[in-house]
Amino acid sequence: MPLIMMSGFPASGKTTRANQIRDFFNSKIAELSPTDPRIARLKVHVVNDEGLGISKEVYREARPEKDARATFYGAVKRLLSADDIVIADGMNYIKGYRYQLHCESKALLTPSCVVYVGTPAEKCKEWNVARDSEKKEGEETGGEGKQDSREAYAPDVLDNLIFRYEEPNGMTRWDSPLFIVPWMDEHIPGEEMWNAMVNNEAVKPHLAT
Ligand code: ADP
Ligand code: MG
Repeated sequence: MPLIMMSGFPASGKTTRANQIRDFFNSKIAELSPTDPRIARLKVHVVNDEGLGISKEVYREARPEKDARATFYGAVKRLLSADDIVIADGMNYIKGYRYQLHCESKALLTPSCVVYVGTPAEKCKEWNVARDSEKKEGEETGGEGKQDSREAYAPDVLDNLIFRYEEPNGMTRWDSPLFIVPWMDEHIPGEEMWNAMVNNEAVKPHLAT
């Protein structure tokens, strides 16, 4: 089933949006399952660095960064199947990387899309710092976790990733359909995404009955 690639600057709100998409898709599945057994089999997965135990420090150097990308890629590829909706909640900042992931979904005859979380660099920097203070508060109250999602990017790592970011282009087949979610929008385009990814007539014949 579909591959949903998140893309955006670090601390742009990708995980926040990925969770919104997951919740929306789960509510659609709950609503439609009683009357559609194919929908009832669908499961939504979110893959991200935190879940894979990847530290934000890997982006400081080429080698660990490459390994982290390979780990992420492998995790997405393993989950892709006829009954799984995979939300690849990473930066997916390299055009060629998005192309490869798109090809993985193509090989399984399943659609893919890109969700571009459009947040200006200045906002990301603000939110990155805010996340750090959330984390400090959490530590004071005894919060812990292997890779805390509230861990902030080091400022130089953040700047460097923003500099290297390759913006999606909806005119290319690997970045389309492209859903753009502006930072100030409260909602994600859930229905449009569901229609493109699950209700897509071209997809239905491939759903085993
Ligand atoms: P990413 O996954 O892109 O690194 P997150 O979703 O973890 O980003 O968000 C980074 C920080 O910004 C978090 O502290 C989050 O609460 C905050 N944040 C995300 N989206 C918004 C928003 N639309 N408005 C205000 N704060 C936000
Ligand atoms: Mg995230």
